[in-house]
Amino acid sequence: MKKLALHWKILIGMTLGVIWALLSSSLGWSEFTINWIDPFGTIFINLLKLIAVPLVLFSIISGVANIGDPASLGRMGGKTLLIYLLTTVLAISLGLLLVNTIKPGKLIDTQSRIDNRISYEIWASSQGYQIKDGINYLQDPEFMQRAQEISDLTKSELKEASVSDKLEKASKQKDASPLQPLVDIVPDNFFYSLSNNGLMLQIIFFAIFFGICLLFIPTDKAQPVINLVDSINEVFLKMVDIVMQAAPFFVFALLAGVVSKMAGDDIGKVVEIFKGLSWYSLTVFVGLMIMIFITYPAILKTFVKKIPYAGFFKAMSPAQTLAFSTSSSAATLPVTMECVEQNLGVNKKVSSFVLPIGATVNMDGTSLYQAVAVIFLAQLHMIDLTIGQQLTIVLTTTLASIGSAAVPSAGLVMLIIVLDSVGLNPAWIAIIFPVDRILDMFRTVVNVTGDATVCSIIADGENMLDYHGDKDPTETFDLDS
Ligand code: ASP
Repeated sequence: MKKLALHWKILIGMTLGVIWALLSSSLGWSEFTINWIDPFGTIFINLLKLIAVPLVLFSIISGVANIGDPASLGRMGGKTLLIYLLTTVLAISLGLLLVNTIKPGKLIDTQSRIDNRISYEIWASSQGYQIKDGINYLQDPEFMQRAQEISDLTKSELKEASVSDKLEKASKQKDASPLQPLVDIVPDNFFYSLSNNGLMLQIIFFAIFFGICLLFIPTDKAQPVINLVDSINEVFLKMVDIVMQAAPFFVFALLAGVVSKMAGDDIGKVVEIFKGLSWYSLTVFVGLMIMIFITYPAILKTFVKKIPYAGFFKAMSPAQTLAFSTSSSAATLPVTMECVEQNLGVNKKVSSFVLPIGATVNMDGTSLYQAVAVIFLAQLHMIDLTIGQQLTIVLTTTLASIGSAAVPSAGLVMLIIVLDSVGLNPAWIAIIFPVDRILDMFRTVVNVTGDATVCSIIADGENMLDYHGDKDPTETFDLDS
């Protein structure tokens, strides 16, 4: 009998997880789910992350050392960064187009928007900002009283959503020197970088440096090291295969946990949360779907003719379903690498270099969502952003998505910096916080799909793409393959 493809098993796991969470919520068992099922989801993410860091290290060293020529490495590196940048700007432009057309923030009732505007004015004046188009509500005692109520409410909501520590984290990043991101890439202690999952760029830097040096030492000295690195790499890839066998169960636990935490023992709450933010969520969702089903396939069709539409999705489905359930491009990276190499036929030399960089710096889904979120929040507060401010958003969302770590909710934290760059109140992230986890799942799928698209383009350009449509993705994570 033909085996069920892994992505189907994962999808079944996800559906059962949601059904379980809804059932347990209505039966009052949410605590049981959170205490006894959700931890398996955490174990799964831990396992994937455990593999991701050494895999990135060894696969980059092996990729760079096997390229054999530093000049072609430089050319590939330049092309990779340029195309990653272009796809990010494309995603942001799409987000801006959608949010300015649908105007989700203006679909909320006017009275609430006026209330919002007042609280914004109070906040802005406390920050010393000038509001050019504002009516001066501050003279009116009735408005002032309502404004106080709103601002108290925001404070307590902020606390509840534990957004305050996120604010603090982001403000630290903001105060650093403009060259700080560059400084942060160069580790002063490599063992420290290895022990911290957030320092992936430092690991990438070290691996490239190490790989290049292998190219410059005599072959008889370099070859044993390259062989060792290649073999260690195989071990980690086998670990991915083993962990993926249990993915459907783990994904069940992950989804059951996420939904139970949102719903508690009252499913109605989830529905309420979504009703208020439905237009915003829909705008983000439409943008992300356009990226996945139209933009990337169109880019592939233009630059890589070999890979057909359905073939691309068939090849990437295990990574996409995993990105959706883990909300982390870093945790998904080992699986993305296997899908791209085994199913799309990208040569390891390219994928081991392009994908880890992509997982860390290329986040098209995150940047699209940030662009939509900022404009939505501005609309909600009756603030019309000028073209200049919208261009600032393009710039800051690009940087913010590069700076976002590839873990759940990282995009939300960096949104604070984008809001700040156009003079809006960073505390507003509390407004969109309730739906963020779900949107995070979709934007992570876009992030991973974008990396795979760019990787295929680079591989094709280097004549290192050998796509065989007849590969059965059921076998991608076979233990004896
Ligand atoms: N969760 C996303 C990722 O890992 C980042 C984000 O948008 O929060 O790609």
